[in-house]
Amino acid sequence: MPPPVRVAVVGGGISGLAAAHRLHALFPTAELRVYERRERVGGPLDTLHQDGWLIERGADSFTTKLPGAVQLCRELGIAEEIIGTNEQHRRALVARGPRLQPTPAGFVLMRANSVAGVLRSPVLSLRGKLRLLAEPFVRRAAGIEQPQYDESVASFATRRLGREAFERLVQPLLAGIYVADAERLSLAGTMPEFLQAEREHGSLTRSLWRGSQAAPSPQQQAENMSRGARYGVFVSLRGGVGQLVQSLLDALPVGTVETGAEVQQVARTDEGRWTLTVAGAAGTRAEHFDALVMATPAPRAAALLADVDTELAGRLARIRCASSAVIGLVCRREQIEHPLDGFGFVVPAIEGRDLVAGSFASVKYPGRVPDDIVHLRAFVGGALRPELTDLPDAELVQLARREFGELLGLRGEPVWSDVARWHESMPQYDVGHVPLVDGLMARAAQLPRFALAGNSYRGVGIPQCIAGGRNAAESVAAQLNDRQ
Ligand SMILES: Cc1cc2nc3c(=O)[nH]c(=O)nc-3n(C[C@H](O)[C@H](O)[C@H](O)COP(=O)(O)OP(=O)(O)OC[C@H]3O[C@@H](n4cnc5c(N)ncnc54)[C@H](O)[C@@H]3O)c2cc1C
Repeated sequence: MPPPVRVAVVGGGISGLAAAHRLHALFPTAELRVYERRERVGGPLDTLHQDGWLIERGADSFTTKLPGAVQLCRELGIAEEIIGTNEQHRRALVARGPRLQPTPAGFVLMRANSVAGVLRSPVLSLRGKLRLLAEPFVRRAAGIEQPQYDESVASFATRRLGREAFERLVQPLLAGIYVADAERLSLAGTMPEFLQAEREHGSLTRSLWRGSQAAPSPQQQAENMSRGARYGVFVSLRGGVGQLVQSLLDALPVGTVETGAEVQQVARTDEGRWTLTVAGAAGTRAEHFDALVMATPAPRAAALLADVDTELAGRLARIRCASSAVIGLVCRREQIEHPLDGFGFVVPAIEGRDLVAGSFASVKYPGRVPDDIVHLRAFVGGALRPELTDLPDAELVQLARREFGELLGLRGEPVWSDVARWHESMPQYDVGHVPLVDGLMARAAQLPRFALAGNSYRGVGIPQCIAGGRNAAESVAAQLNDRQ
């Protein structure tokens, strides 16, 4: 009997776990190993069950419009566990001074789908509204017809919608998703359908009027939602997003996943196999594999691949990753003055506050804490305020209490608090991200029985990460099959 084929997955986030699950399905005889340097897998999919409460410490939802997550839930037998968001209060608010105001009805990330919605909105001045509604008359950008054309989201939104709409709506809505600097964030990498609308129709609004193919297709819209808006087509699982992680773990053979195991070095042997240096609880050892899926954030992959392919490592190193923290506060309902008539709020950078966004978790998914209790989440850090992520826990809790005090009228001590830090969890899709990723994927494809997966490349949402992990598994499995 030949020894079993051995396949390693480095990184136990949702991308790595989805890759391992797919590999196990395609190659059940392979000996699989997933190495995760932290003590738990799942990355920002982290559900805490505490005193009968269900608390999400990172991600809280995924879209049903992209197939990745729902299909995986079906395969895992947990599709019946999918739950929708509260049908009441399904809207986002935006901070202006000490108040929270609803975003204009029909405004989706960068496109105003309703003139009345814009005119009625208190978020913009009259001048700002008129400038936003003048979008159809703004000229096309020079060079936009080039396939490689890219521009920052800030430049695009300011050019098309005006400075005020950018600063008051687009910047905070996108920062709430990408924790990114909009001045560097790639339009082509994050919302290509808007670029395409200008390219084909000269205007976002006109592409809607014409009901043309430049208006986002259902697929594009879904992609956009999943990359983007927190408050629309999103769902969760009855047991929180952690239920997806646990179901993946349960579906893998016992002993597949090793936590507290950091891969410190990757090398290729003369026979074309892969050797990993793994530092785990029992010390540091070398492990040999026939195939490798690298599912870490790009900067980590760059460091690990430096001796294998300098060129590839150099390109990977160009993708920066930002960190953020989520502060959870559980309070009694009577401690909060605000009606909490939304799923949460975003904060424009020009407001000069310490928060990127706030979420009313127990409004979005009712029943996870008792009715007389409220679970609020504060998001801080990201590319614009990196220094906040690593403040001591007590200071972050104070910060959240102060901000919620000013914006929501929160009074008194919270019943419970929690701080979750997500280091290196949000890749920054800078202008030029798409060709950078195309190039590095082509380069990675030249390495035998090797694939990259993870949120650094083609979308940060859970469904895209799952799809990326599965694609990586399929590519590696096909090469293993060819070799046999
Ligand atoms: C606070 C927050 C909220 C979010 N909310 C949502 C949401 O509601 N919906 C949504 O769709 N998306 C959301 N996202 C985005 C989404 O959760 C992430 O993009 C996704 O979980 C990333 O998964 P990943 O496996 O690619 O990366 P990660 O989860 O970062 O996994 C990579 C893993 O590699 C490990 N690793 C790194 N180096 C090594 C090494 N040398 N050896 C071994 N292991 C290593 C890391 O420890 C890490 O666990 C959110 C993200 C954050 C941070």
